[in-house]
Amino acid sequence: MHLACVDCAARHPAEMLYACSRCGGILEVADPARLPRPIAGAGMWAADAALGVADPAMVATLGEGATPLHRVPRLAAAIGAAGDLRIKDETVNPTGSFKDRAVAAAVARARELGLPGIVCASSGNAGASAAAYAARAGLPAIIVVPARTPAEKLTQIAAYGARLVQVEGHYSKAYDVGLEIARRHGFANVTTTYLNPYGVDALKTVGHEVFDQMEGTVPDWILVPTGAGPLVKGVVQGFRERSPGRRPRLVAVQAEGCAPIARAFASGEREVRAWGPPTTFASGISDPLVGYERDGTHTLDLVIASGGLAVAVEDAAIRQAMALLARSEGILAEPTGASSVAALAVLLADGRIARDATVVCLVTGHGFKDLKVWRDMPADIRHLADPADADRLVETTLAGGTAASGATGGQPLRDAS
Ligand SMILES: [Zn+2]
Repeated sequence: MHLACVDCAARHPAEMLYACSRCGGILEVADPARLPRPIAGAGMWAADAALGVADPAMVATLGEGATPLHRVPRLAAAIGAAGDLRIKDETVNPTGSFKDRAVAAAVARARELGLPGIVCASSGNAGASAAAYAARAGLPAIIVVPARTPAEKLTQIAAYGARLVQVEGHYSKAYDVGLEIARRHGFANVTTTYLNPYGVDALKTVGHEVFDQMEGTVPDWILVPTGAGPLVKGVVQGFRERSPGRRPRLVAVQAEGCAPIARAFASGEREVRAWGPPTTFASGISDPLVGYERDGTHTLDLVIASGGLAVAVEDAAIRQAMALLARSEGILAEPTGASSVAALAVLLADGRIARDATVVCLVTGHGFKDLKVWRDMPADIRHLADPADADRLVETTLAGGTAASGATGGQPLRDAS
């Protein structure tokens, strides 16, 4: 196993390195180490795990990966998809997001290399994951987050016993603090941009699983909620390994309030520039890429090479997609998680994706992560003063007289008395 630079192809030893010492480029794991045997019952480690870790005793698993790929006929009908639409449900990972795959692998490699602790800059989800896996591995953890991270994410990080550091400003500020702690103290930086090659490498398991679950059908399109974009790379790499002949087109989905990659794509630029202050409620993809614009450019390259798209969606469309996912299929997503479905609705409507296409939307994070957004959503709440009125409630429920069909009607839960 060694590390290779994606830009200049320089070869580096398989240590905990975060950038090419020659050109500053992104490093990736080449010929990854393989476990001598799969770890029984352990999600992504139970498949043919070549995930950069050679010693099974170093793997501190919580069962990450091996997530379901759901058929979603009611959601498809609601957004006008007439082909085969599937949801890859990453909300069911142990801490509620796909980050568990990357962090589990990066923490295992950190243990194998004997590093003293874990540091992670995070908009919330990777931090929760790093805190959980550090606890599982018995390592100390420092999690650095922007001050405006949703309360549920902060609560989850703190619950796992990590040291939580809040910094003023947006995600990129937290990122810089994480770099310093890793550089000065030798902690393993498991920040889930393209920084940690072992973490990024593990995201290929998403591509592997989708390919295996589609039973030989390669989807026409896969839509990926995208901050810096390592999950885009994971899907590309997974399909490259499983299906060299035919590959899906990728859509990198961003929020209109923070869309550096989509902006570059729309204007035909091949270099991604940093975004200003983010103005979206989708915290998981609220990454302006300040100081690591190169990550965005790498993601843009991958999207273009796949024949795909990078698009930005409005918060209102994301809110609508959250309601549809929950109310038509029972899948509770945070805003970032539902952004892929919001983008699909837009792309079907304007014809950029054909209605009969085979499509997979990645839903990346659980709705429990950001309950404030849900509390503000219209809900169907009735108060029952007289038990005799229950009959009429059942009648109207059976007749479909509920707010279950979308984000309109009913009243927000917080206003209910
Ligand atoms: Zn290089």
